[in-house]
Amino acid sequence: MDKMKIAADLVRSGEITYIDYVSEISAAEMDISEGRFRPWDVSYWKTVRRAHSDGKKVVFVSGPVPPEVLYAMDCIPFYVDFFPSRLLQNAYLSSWLIGETEKKVNPDLCRLNKIQIGSLLAGNMGVIPDAYISAPIPCDSARTAYFSMERLIKAPSFHFDIPICRNSRSLDYIEVQFGAFINFIERITDKKLDWESLRYRIDLSNKSAELLERCSLLRKVRPCPMSSHMNIWNELMNAFAPTEEMLSLLQKELEICRSRIETGESPCPDGEKHRLLLMHNMLWQGLDLMDWLESEYGAVTVMDGYSFRKREFFDHPDDRADCFKIMCRRMLYGSTAHGAGAFGDDILDAAYGVINDYSADVSIFLGSSGCRHEWASLKMLTDSIFDKFGIPTLIFVIDNADMNYKSDGEIKSAISQYMDTVINKN
Ligand code: SF4
Repeated sequence: MDKMKIAADLVRSGEITYIDYVSEISAAEMDISEGRFRPWDVSYWKTVRRAHSDGKKVVFVSGPVPPEVLYAMDCIPFYVDFFPSRLLQNAYLSSWLIGETEKKVNPDLCRLNKIQIGSLLAGNMGVIPDAYISAPIPCDSARTAYFSMERLIKAPSFHFDIPICRNSRSLDYIEVQFGAFINFIERITDKKLDWESLRYRIDLSNKSAELLERCSLLRKVRPCPMSSHMNIWNELMNAFAPTEEMLSLLQKELEICRSRIETGESPCPDGEKHRLLLMHNMLWQGLDLMDWLESEYGAVTVMDGYSFRKREFFDHPDDRADCFKIMCRRMLYGSTAHGAGAFGDDILDAAYGVINDYSADVSIFLGSSGCRHEWASLKMLTDSIFDKFGIPTLIFVIDNADMNYKSDGEIKSAISQYMDTVINKN
C-alpha cells in the first residue's frame, strides 16, 4: 500500500500524533535533499514537542504575534499558520482534514484554514495548548477561522484587533492593546515580564534578521549562489527568529552562499541562464520545483513569495518603549492577506524591487485557487511587469494547501511550456 496512505491512516487512528508526524515529514525532507541546502524546521517542531517537559507553556499563535515576548516569558509559540505546510505534503491526510472541516465546521473557508481547523478537530495534536493568541489578517476566511480555532483550542485566548489602515492612529491603537497582551501572558505564566530575558530575545531576533538580509543580498551576485527560501524562512522567522537554533540555520545558509560565491559555483549544473521571480501564496507543493528549474532550465529562483527580503530591526534595543513600538508596527504591517492578496502598492514595490535589484528575467505567478484575495491584483501586477520590464508572466492556478488540485507533473508541464515557448522560444 502507498506509504502516504499508511501514514495518513496511522495519524487518523491516533497511533501517531500530528506533531510527531509533522516532525517526521520535516526530517525526511532533510534525508532526500542530496547535498542541497533546504531550510529545515525539525528543530522548531522539536522545541514545540518538548516544551512542556522543559517546563515551558505552549501558546498557539495565529499571525505575527511578537515571538520575542513569548520566548522571554518561557512560552513556546506553536505557529498554527505553519502547521499545514507540512501536513499538506500527505495528500490523503490533507484531503481528509479538509473534508472534516467542510462537514463539521464551515465549507466556505479557504483550504489553508480548513487544514488548520481539521487538525484541531481531530483532537490528536500531541501538544496541549496553554493559551491561544491571534493577530488577525484582514481576510474573511482567516477571521472566521480564528473563532472556530478559539473554540477548538479550549484554552484562554487573546485577540489583537489589527486595523487595515496603516497610519499612526492604527499604531497607537495596537500599542494600547499591547499592554493587555503583556498582562495576559503574565497571567498565563504566573510571572512578570523580565526585561533582561526580553532583551536577550530581542538581540537574537536582530541577529536573525541581519543574517536573513545578508543571505538575500548575496543572491544578487551572478551566478546566484542559492535558490531563495524566503517563503520558508518567513514562516520560521515568525515562529523561531529569537532562538539560537534559528541563528544556526541562517548562519549555515550564509556560509554556503559565501563559499559558492568564492568558487563561482552555481546551483544550476549547466550554468545560470535565467533568474526567476517566483510569486506565490505560500508554495509548499513541489519542494523540488526550484531544484528542477535549475537542472532543467538553468533558472535560479532569486526570490520567491513577496516582500520577504528583510525584517524590521530593533534599532534601539535598550529602549523598552521603542522595542514595543517595533513589535506593534510589525503586527500592523505583517497582518496582511497572504501573497498577492496583500496591498497593491506593496506587491508592485516587491516585484519591481526583485526585478531591478536581482536582475530577474523570468516571472512566474502560481496563484492559490482557494484564496479569496489572491486574484484581485493579478492583472495590475502582471500588466505592470510587462509594461515596465517587457517580461511576460506565466499565470498558473494551484492550491496552496491541496495537492490534489494540481499534481507536481501538471505544474512542471505548465512551466515547461512557458519556458520553452515564451522564454527560450524553441
Ligand atoms: S489570504 Fe487567502 S490563503 Fe490566506 S487565509 Fe485568506 S483566503 Fe486563505
